[in-house]
Amino acid sequence: MAITLNNGFNMPVIGLGVWRMEGKSIKHLLTSAIKIGYRHFDCAAHYKNEAEVGEALKEAFETGLVKREDIFITTKIWNSDHGHVLEACKDSLKKLQLEYLDLYLVHFPIASNHTGVGTTRSAINEEGMLDIDTTVSLETTWHAMEELVSLGLVRSIGISNYNILLTRDCLAYSKVKPAVNQIETHPYFQRESLVKFCQKHDICVTAHTPLGGGVANTDLFGSVSCLDDPVLKGLAEKHKKTVAQVVLQWGIQRNIVVIPKSSKIERLQENFQVFDFELTKEDMELIKSLDRKYRTNQPAKSWAIDIYE
Ligand code: NDP
Repeated sequence: MAITLNNGFNMPVIGLGVWRMEGKSIKHLLTSAIKIGYRHFDCAAHYKNEAEVGEALKEAFETGLVKREDIFITTKIWNSDHGHVLEACKDSLKKLQLEYLDLYLVHFPIASNHTGVGTTRSAINEEGMLDIDTTVSLETTWHAMEELVSLGLVRSIGISNYNILLTRDCLAYSKVKPAVNQIETHPYFQRESLVKFCQKHDICVTAHTPLGGGVANTDLFGSVSCLDDPVLKGLAEKHKKTVAQVVLQWGIQRNIVVIPKSSKIERLQENFQVFDFELTKEDMELIKSLDRKYRTNQPAKSWAIDIYE
C-alpha cells in the first residue's frame, strides 16, 4: 500500500526507521524486513549507519532479493550541512551505495555550525548550547535541495520537524514544493492542525516516532510512550491486535505514512501486519480523545536549546 506524492512518485505507507539500529545488526534486520515485505527505509546522515544500510542494500540487490526500483529510500541532511547540501547529498549517496535517493529531507529547520560534510556533529558553543549558524536561511537550503532534483540525485525533497509557520513559508519560497513533512505524531501527540495543513497543501505527512518512541525514548528522554495506554489496550483486545498495530493502523487511517523502528524480528513482523483490520469511526474518535500534545522526542535535552519554543 502506497501514498502518491505531489510529484507522482509512490511512497509505501509503512517504512522501517533505522535510527538507533546497531551497525552490526543492520544487514540481518534489513534483509529480514525485505523478506517480510518492507519496501521503504527511513535513514539519516545523523544516524551514522548509512554505510551499513548501503552494504545491506547492495547485497539485497545483488542476490536478487529486491530490485532498486522497488524500494523507497529516504535520508536526511543534518543541521551542520545546511550550507553544503550538494556535498552532503553526495556523501549520503556514496555511503548508501545508491545512484539516487527517493526522498531527501531537511532533518530539522535549524542550521548549526558546519563541522565537515557528513560528520553530523552538533557543535556546542561556549554557553553549552547548540552552536546555531545564523548565516544560512532555510530558503537558501531549500533552493539547494531543489537543485538536487534537477541534477537527478533525488526524486523527491521534503522537510522534517517543520511547524505550520515554517511549512507555510517553505510553500511560499519553493519552486519544487516539499513532497513530505516528517514530524513526530502518535496518539499522545496528534498535531491535528499541522497534519490538516500539510494534507490540504498536498504535502504527505510521515509520522516519525509513530509508536511514541517506545522504551527507547523513555530511556533517552524520560518520556512516556502511548504503548501502555489502557484505552489503546482495550482497542487492541477488541480487534485481537497489539497496541502497536492499533497505533500504526490509526496513523495509516489518517493518511499518514508510518516508519516504526524495531531491532526485533518478531516486532518487524508485528508492525507490518496491519493491513488485515480497520478501526471504526468510533475507534478513531476514541483515540482522538487521548491527545496529550506530548512530544517524546526532545532534542533540547542534548542541545540545551528548545527549537520548538
Ligand atoms: P518508534 O515510535 O518507532 O519506537 C521505537 C521503539 O519502540 C523502540 O524502543 C522499539 O524497541 C519499540 N518497538 C518497536 N515496535 C514495537 C512493538 N511492536 N511493540 C512494542 N515496542 C515496539 O520511535 P523511533 O524514535 O525509533 O522513530 C521511528 C523512526 O522515525 C526512526 O527510526 C527514524 O527513522 C525516524 N525518526 C525521525 C526523526 C526526525 O527528526 N525526522 C526523529 C525520530 C525518529 P525495539 O527496537 O527493541 O523493538
